[in-house]
Amino acid sequence: MAEISGGSILVKALRNEGVDTVFNLPGDPMAMVYSACKTEDVRIFTFRHEQAAALAAQAWSYTTGRIGVAMVASGPAMTNAVTALETARSNCWPMLLIGGSGDLRRRGRGDFQEAPQVAAAAPFCKLSIAVDDPHRIPYHVNAAVRAAMSGRPGPVYLDLPSDVITAEIDEDEFHLLAPVPPAPRPAGDPALICQALEAIDRSERPLLLAGKGVAWSGGAEQARRLVDHLQIPFVPSPMGKGIVPDDHPLCVAGARSYALSHADLVILAGARFNWIFHFGEAPRFDPDVKVVQIDIEPTEIGHGVAATVGITGDARAVLEQIADEAGSGSRKRLESPWLDALQAERQKNEDAVASLVHSDDAPMNLYRMFRDVSAVLDGDATVTVDGENTMAVSRAMLPNFLPAHRLDAGESGCMGVSVPYALGAAVARPGTQVLSMNGDFAFGWNGMEIETAIRHELPVVFVVANNGSIGADRESASIVRYDKMMDAFCGHAEYVETPAQLKPALERAFAAGRPALLNVVIDPQRRRKQQPFDWLGRRGQMQY
Ligand code: ADP
Repeated sequence: MAEISGGSILVKALRNEGVDTVFNLPGDPMAMVYSACKTEDVRIFTFRHEQAAALAAQAWSYTTGRIGVAMVASGPAMTNAVTALETARSNCWPMLLIGGSGDLRRRGRGDFQEAPQVAAAAPFCKLSIAVDDPHRIPYHVNAAVRAAMSGRPGPVYLDLPSDVITAEIDEDEFHLLAPVPPAPRPAGDPALICQALEAIDRSERPLLLAGKGVAWSGGAEQARRLVDHLQIPFVPSPMGKGIVPDDHPLCVAGARSYALSHADLVILAGARFNWIFHFGEAPRFDPDVKVVQIDIEPTEIGHGVAATVGITGDARAVLEQIADEAGSGSRKRLESPWLDALQAERQKNEDAVASLVHSDDAPMNLYRMFRDVSAVLDGDATVTVDGENTMAVSRAMLPNFLPAHRLDAGESGCMGVSVPYALGAAVARPGTQVLSMNGDFAFGWNGMEIETAIRHELPVVFVVANNGSIGADRESASIVRYDKMMDAFCGHAEYVETPAQLKPALERAFAAGRPALLNVVIDPQRRRKQQPFDWLGRRGQMQY
């Protein structure tokens, strides 16, 4: 009887779950797994750091709606990827991390790269487990994919000891399970749908807050129907941008603070009252605000802020139920004082930054930079962003028109995500523009991965908004020539010092058809519109 190795079983089990792409950094004891990937036609993208490989895998998950897989070696290789488990956890994105580890029979004896890998992954994962028998690999892969993709998505970790990977078993002892079907999409309780609609009807100043749970559910069209039918203005979460296009007349992101604090009812759909939505508390929200909450995770309903009507269910299904129940009649709120006030506030905010947006001063400010960046982006461009100010200003200045087309540091605030997220998105969306926006400080974490882009011919345009400030020591900072890094790797590189140079440089970068990096000199004075509230509001007291 022919024999099959644990490594081959692993790859066949992944293939059985529809996996055809993995993000990895090779090393012991994974060699046999990589050769099996080649036999099974699984594409391998090799990174320079495990964190970046795992970040790319989760960006791939979010942008394709499928399970993204990262493979890493043992010990420090695996612990390097733990931060990416945290970003997947905090983003509610699925991913499967597979780590190699030493022989089971040497555990505890100080084996090469021996580390408590399963324990390290556990706090961040829906499932973290070591496979101790090659026969059981298909079961563990199936259980891992099911856990990652069902309910609130999240990361899972499988630990593959060296002697499980290299073990050979009889082929007739190898059995695959039925692949995990598409995740259940539960509808909401019809009684609650009616209550939600009544609450919306009673409200005078309703507001939809749409987050990436709506994007993940595939509910963009349903969200738009609700907005259009009931004429409800909306503010997307940063990564919820594009669920309903940013140029929709009812998008009031430009009057965000006013909208949040004056709404008498918010529909919180696939989003959380975390720091990004100011914990749903006063003064950022009206203390008496009513909340219609839609989330697939039952424990999220009423979490921190009581839900007036809490609907556990899939965002797409529930938004459709509400839109159906509302029928085709709209409340014609376009004429309402609420919309007038939001419109006036949006105009006021636009006027407040107009001089920055149109300034031709050099070095340029971030608003001026994003004006030109947005002018060269296609409607289906994917934008990844990190860097403190770069992220904040880009939210206002870079429009999105499609769901899951903006990826940023999110709740975790993890710096360094922009470059690897862009690589994952570029693998997922070939033939479309992928832009990676970086602050110069943030670029440092994973900047080396521009070499990965070159090696795998991923034509991402990287922009470094460079104000020469690395960390707290802003005084002594100088401009680092990151463009010369890209030069060294033989990509397209330009150094941009004036506003007039920027747009032609961006056009050349997108036309280059290969990885490009623009190193854009930015005014070190962090000029932003006056913010009505302190960033994290830490001086304020929380209710709980
Ligand atoms: P954002 O950063 O866009 O505000 P969050 O990550 O804070 O989004 O919240 C996303 C929410 O979406 C999570 O509470 C998660 O449980 C929820 N979610 C994930 N998938 C679905 C789905 N299919 N339907 C409804 N809610 C979902």
